[in-house]
Amino acid sequence: MSALASYAAQEQHSLGRRHPEEKPTYRSEFQRDRDRIIHSAAFRRLEYKTQVFVNHEGDMFRTRLTHSIEVAQISRSIARILKLNEELVETVALAHDLGHTPFGHAGQDALNACMKDYGGFEHNLQSLRVVDELEERYAEFPGLNLTYESREGILKHCSPMKAKELGDIGQRFIDKQQPGLEAQVVNFADEIAYNNHDVDDGLRAGLISFDQLREVKLFEQQYLQVKQAYPDLAERRMIHEIIRRMINVLVIDLIDQTRERLEAAKPETIHDIRQQPALLAGFSEPMREMSLELKRFLRQNLYRHYRVHRMTSKASRIISALFDAFINDTGLMPHDYQQTAKSYADDLGDSGRARAVADYIAGMTDRFAITEYERVFNPSELT
Ligand code: MG
Repeated sequence: MSALASYAAQEQHSLGRRHPEEKPTYRSEFQRDRDRIIHSAAFRRLEYKTQVFVNHEGDMFRTRLTHSIEVAQISRSIARILKLNEELVETVALAHDLGHTPFGHAGQDALNACMKDYGGFEHNLQSLRVVDELEERYAEFPGLNLTYESREGILKHCSPMKAKELGDIGQRFIDKQQPGLEAQVVNFADEIAYNNHDVDDGLRAGLISFDQLREVKLFEQQYLQVKQAYPDLAERRMIHEIIRRMINVLVIDLIDQTRERLEAAKPETIHDIRQQPALLAGFSEPMREMSLELKRFLRQNLYRHYRVHRMTSKASRIISALFDAFINDTGLMPHDYQQTAKSYADDLGDSGRARAVADYIAGMTDRFAITEYERVFNPSELT
């Protein structure tokens, strides 16, 4: 790796791990974090979790796993140019969606509603909970015992009330400070990845059309260029050529803007980055507007499409029904979850029991949740 900027995250200045460990022999601390994520059970389950389309709708759509890999790719490209820590951005990108429920945002909203009297449910906090508590892989500590910097990147947002419960990692939300630049970059890379792949998946599913997309400036600009250079290009290649160019202009704009802001702010250390009030990583104003327009388009035409809505409404019913069944009778869950529910309830009462149920449901893949629903509610289904 080429020399890092002085304000990049550097392992020799890391704020460390919650449980102190020997340094790795041949790897950096952030490489070790990344490797722990790749070997985790929650990471493997991302293959069968989705964002917009439910996993069984087709093999061609993005899953949370392929999404996370795309986010890692975009983040690393940006980090390399800005001389940020590539290993750390990769770690944060691969981990950023670990806490997602089955069925994307519909699943999270349903689970949050179920948990409203028990402290709520938020996928971002759950991602941190997965790496801090829920993974069971090491003799010496619960979770994956990641570095502070990786954990800081995973916890993108958090209410001040929750932040108080989280100690050091939550403090910045109380102090209104930024995370390191690596975390900020992944945030934007996430947005670039999903906006663009949702265009691709939405077109493939036939939920949005090419003509509709031409009303979106970011798309139209790239379309005109491709059309001029390749007037006879077949539609599928045309779509991919447009999308790759959209990703490219967004990435280049983000890099150029971030560079300019860095030159103006002149941070010297990651501490300076954390103190800066405004986001250092961000699009230029025209690009921010185009990106917002695309988001609005997707919300209106894809995420609210009746066929997506049918699926998400089924998804929320499945999540709510499972939650109600398990909270009323934890004996319906597998043995180890019953035990966890009991021990959490001994400590925290009803909220503890509810948290154990939420952990069980959040960990499910789309298809596991559907099967579990059948096993719990369908009388003719074997259990
Ligand atoms: Mg994401």
